[in-house]
Amino acid sequence: MVTDEYGRAPVPHAEVRVDLAAIRDNVAELKARAGRAEVMAVVKADAYGHGLVPAARAARSGGATWLGTAVLAEALALRAAGVGGRLLAWLTAPGERFSDAVGADVDVAASAPWTVAEIAAAARETGRTARVHLKVDSGLGRSGAPRADWPALVDAALREQAEGTLRVVGLWSHFAVADDPGHSVNTEQLEAFGEALAWAETRGVRPEVRHVANSAATLALPSSHYDLVRPGLAVYGLSPMPGQVRPADVGLRPAMSVRARLALVKRVPAGHGVSYGHLYATDRESTLGLVPLGYGDGVPRHASSGDGVGPGAPVLVDGVTRRVAGRVCMDQFVLDLRDDDVHAGDEVVLFGGGDGEPSAQQWAEACGTLSYEIVTRFAPRLPRTYVGTEDEP
Ligand SMILES: *Cc1c(COP(=O)(O)O)cnc(C)c1O
Repeated sequence: MVTDEYGRAPVPHAEVRVDLAAIRDNVAELKARAGRAEVMAVVKADAYGHGLVPAARAARSGGATWLGTAVLAEALALRAAGVGGRLLAWLTAPGERFSDAVGADVDVAASAPWTVAEIAAAARETGRTARVHLKVDSGLGRSGAPRADWPALVDAALREQAEGTLRVVGLWSHFAVADDPGHSVNTEQLEAFGEALAWAETRGVRPEVRHVANSAATLALPSSHYDLVRPGLAVYGLSPMPGQVRPADVGLRPAMSVRARLALVKRVPAGHGVSYGHLYATDRESTLGLVPLGYGDGVPRHASSGDGVGPGAPVLVDGVTRRVAGRVCMDQFVLDLRDDDVHAGDEVVLFGGGDGEPSAQQWAEACGTLSYEIVTRFAPRLPRTYVGTEDEP
């Protein structure tokens, strides 16, 4: 029996279904587009909600020689599950257990000399050489050393490298507006990154990989590919530039669908208020369908419809697209199914990749957010079921 990552059998009422073959094939497509650069599949945040370990394995079988996580715990969980190969965890805080990273052969990142010092101390403690990727803030204004502090970071790392505690294997940065490939900030960031690389190389750094491209840059900014690209969203078959590129245009297909069964179907008269606050009311005698998913499962409350809220997110029911009627509650929401011939137990698809199924992008638009947030937020209580490959999830 297929079980989710918590070892549970899928419950019949609702599930997040993940097509691992889609993840594998999307990575293969991205690899083809990356030319001679290698692919680091980004699997942070439980693989954008798709399930860390199964998604990582599928990405590996699609040709991702590297995996990337934000926090160290994610990288260690991959190692504990037996996932090999190169693995970078880039988001750490003071006091992080870098010795665990070094011990588990996880590459780590540094944006400041004090991080270099902590990594080196951990390496001394474990007697192994740490592998470090130095990050420059080429303009995003998030992590990375400010350009003025880059020389100090590089020199601190080189001093430790000379001691043998660590090796500078990567130089890297991250884009602010790669989803708008023609934006001048991309050019400015590439110039700043190029200067930071040149300076580090002048000081004697010989990086194994230089990397800056996220999904959007992998798809639309070939000059940013360098030695390694770091796509996240595109691995899961979603477009980082939804206004310009649909997934199918670039050979990608969505891996996640969210499905449920109608828990109750009932006929109500015209003018019947629906769900908390009565933001919505039937405009005629109609059939209401109860979907057993709510914000406690990760359905955004912004998917609600009615007076003073959004349009309601789309849901496919027996071939017809309906919109969420009224407020999304903690565990459930309601659809106004008019005179559709539907029954309790019928399948509904919130979003997916199949014909006629709403997309995560449409959900994002209905909720005023990004597809990134839609797929990432489904809660652990909702089972993940895996389809599409023979690989053990
Ligand atoms: C999340 C993230 C990525 C992947 O971004 P996408 O837009 O999902 O491709 C790459 N690099 C870093 C540093 C990230 O935080």
